[in-house]
Amino acid sequence: MKLGTKLIHAGVAPDPSTGAIMTPIFQTSTYVQSAPGVHKGYEYARTQNPTRDALQNALAAIENGTHGINFGSGLAATDAVMKLLSPGDEVVATNDLYGGTYRIFTKVFERYGIKFSFVGMRDAASVAAHITPKTKMIWLETPTNPLLNIIDIAAVAQIAQKNGVLLCVDNTFASPYLQNPLDLGADIVLHSATKYLGGHSDVVHGAVIVKNEELAQQLYFIQNSCGAVPGPQDCFLVLRGIKTLHVRMQRHCENGEKIAHFLRNHDKVDKVYWPGFTDHPNHDIAKRQMRGYGGMMSFTLKDDNMDAANRVLSHTHLFSLAESLGGVESLIGHPASMTHASIPREERIKNGLADSLIRLSVGIEDVDDLIADLDQAIG
Ligand SMILES: *Cc1c(COP(=O)(O)O)cnc(C)c1O
Repeated sequence: MKLGTKLIHAGVAPDPSTGAIMTPIFQTSTYVQSAPGVHKGYEYARTQNPTRDALQNALAAIENGTHGINFGSGLAATDAVMKLLSPGDEVVATNDLYGGTYRIFTKVFERYGIKFSFVGMRDAASVAAHITPKTKMIWLETPTNPLLNIIDIAAVAQIAQKNGVLLCVDNTFASPYLQNPLDLGADIVLHSATKYLGGHSDVVHGAVIVKNEELAQQLYFIQNSCGAVPGPQDCFLVLRGIKTLHVRMQRHCENGEKIAHFLRNHDKVDKVYWPGFTDHPNHDIAKRQMRGYGGMMSFTLKDDNMDAANRVLSHTHLFSLAESLGGVESLIGHPASMTHASIPREERIKNGLADSLIRLSVGIEDVDDLIADLDQAIG
């Protein structure tokens, strides 16, 4: 089955009691047993919920995995993956990470004795040098947030396999429409389903997908033991969202391409970060591992200061100034003060994240209106 068909049909079946084509929202905390221990596979709703099951199965199918394990947010999913580790274990993570991921690693899990090294992974070979006998996991995002760096998933997966460590890929930015990390050798795929999977800026949700039974059972154990489960209504919203992922992503990609070129040709714009440009440093890898380049991009102004950036940020009408990404509506953001404020300034600058950098999540509106909006705001 191809992706567009899977997005609509995988994991779901008409409700057996009524024939409802959409999986109902099973808003219940428990299930009645006909005799002690005799039940229909559902005992208590932290452990199992039919709405969640449908979504977990759908996500497993669209990421070409065998099991989906869902959580109340993307960071709750990250929290669960980290709990596969024990004190003394080490993680090699990319240095260009979502701010909240950096925060949970350094402020929460370092206190529990897990060590993190943050490494530039644009050259995949550099990862090997940071692996020690204690390394248990490699963690990467690609494209990265907000600089749209591209990391070669297959090359890092080879290093992970050679060293017997797990590779976790945060696939939030690309979505399963653009790339499938499990096919490239990753062990774990993570999503903030809050973004493209949900797609309508109306739900916070996280998911992990794996293709290994033992890993899946460990993660289900953590999901049930730690309890960061999503509610059934949120599962329903994500399930509805993914049914249009392919058509939304197609438009995100088309609009993204036009806006990236518009910005690049604008005389007040300095750098534009978008992996679809043939002179993007890792464009060849993007072309190989992705099926399109998406609607996420960042840019700086020639007038490189906060005031100029602020002028643009406060003058768009269709691009709303907000954190988050991946919804149908276009958003504009300022990583240094918003999504990446939890990363210390020296660390940000060292990684190339300028104070004046502006990030766009290009939505699926009519692209001519989006371009006109940016044009008047840039001035
Ligand atoms: C938003 C985001 C997260 C965190 O997800 P939440 O659903 O907000 O908890 C993790 N990784 C990336 C790349 C994100 O954009």
